Amino acid sequence: MARVELRNLTKSWDAATAVADMSLSIADGEFTAILGPSGCGKSTTLFMLAGVYRPTAGDIFFDGARVNDVEARSRNVGIVFQSYALYPNMSVLQNILFPLRFQKVPDADRRAREMAELVQVGELLDRRPSQLSGGQQQRVALARALVKRPNLLLLDEPLSNLDATLRLSMRAEIRRITRELGVTTILVTHDQIEATTMADRVVCMANGRVEQVGTADDLYLRPDTRFVAGFIGSPPMNLIEATVHEGAIRAGAARIAVTGAEGTVTLGLRPEMLHPAERGLQARVAHVEPMGRERMTTAYTDFGTIRFIEPIAAPARDEGELMHLQFDAADTILFGPDGRRLPGARASLPEAAHA
Ligand code: ADP
Ligand code: MG
Repeated sequence: MARVELRNLTKSWDAATAVADMSLSIADGEFTAILGPSGCGKSTTLFMLAGVYRPTAGDIFFDGARVNDVEARSRNVGIVFQSYALYPNMSVLQNILFPLRFQKVPDADRRAREMAELVQVGELLDRRPSQLSGGQQQRVALARALVKRPNLLLLDEPLSNLDATLRLSMRAEIRRITRELGVTTILVTHDQIEATTMADRVVCMANGRVEQVGTADDLYLRPDTRFVAGFIGSPPMNLIEATVHEGAIRAGAARIAVTGAEGTVTLGLRPEMLHPAERGLQARVAHVEPMGRERMTTAYTDFGTIRFIEPIAAPARDEGELMHLQFDAADTILFGPDGRRLPGARASLPEAAHA
């Protein structure tokens, strides 16, 4: 297995830069997710790790050895794509054996069968891919990627083609299998739940750049940037753009006190951290959406549209209803004009502290 290090990795095409100055260290056996919206450079990063794309600048190290000039097939990397890319005319067993075809592996057949057992397709070895369900094809693709005992397993949106129930079980399955093998794994996904449930650490990317590297809690509770704050969480954090003047931001009759920041800021308020109260920030209910355990309300305030979440058992709200919202200063996050979090900055509604 391998330790992986990316140093100032960059990939540019004629027209655009897909990955810009990416640096990242991944421990041996770690499960890392690269998370970001479509087009942010996730697959390009994976292709550079696999040796398919040559970096424009920067270096890649496996266990401390630079691999920029090592060919794809000598890197011993296993890849699983969203489109499982199985060979349609081969049986399951032949598909799993395929990566070993040029290697003198004396026990290739036994290894392929073991891998098939591990991913639970041991009963299906004689079938063709067309005779398998989507989930079974995904398992075969995984076995094929693992049969070479790769230093590194790369998964590019591997669950996107599966239905919701299957995705849930495959998430846990992939986690079990990679743990059992201790293989260093990098999962690429645009799905934040997939990333945060499966990975030890998440790398959040936007526009080819790393926005933040951290645990699920880091990204949710302590987003480094405005982008991460708006990307993580469903519904996402409310982001209010404003200017701090004389210790407050103002809009219409509303006033929110701000400490630790001056000038242009973005105030972040998570929907579950806003609470209805007797006094506070005035809001007019626009619409109410039941979401199972919780209810999401969209409301208009002087600072713009805000969403908040309440337990489904809270008193019902009517559209057009006038109400007030409170929040704790400790729950607030502020970002500066460069989009970076201002540590220590807080916002509060002082006049309604005893509402
Ligand atoms: P993601 O996997 O995060 O959706 P990609 O890494 O595939 O994003 O793409 C990142 C950016 O690089 C996109 O803007 C995409 O259009 C561009 N890109 C990807 N591959 C190529 C290519 N072969 N030639 C030119 N541009 C590319
Ligand atoms: Mg992609």
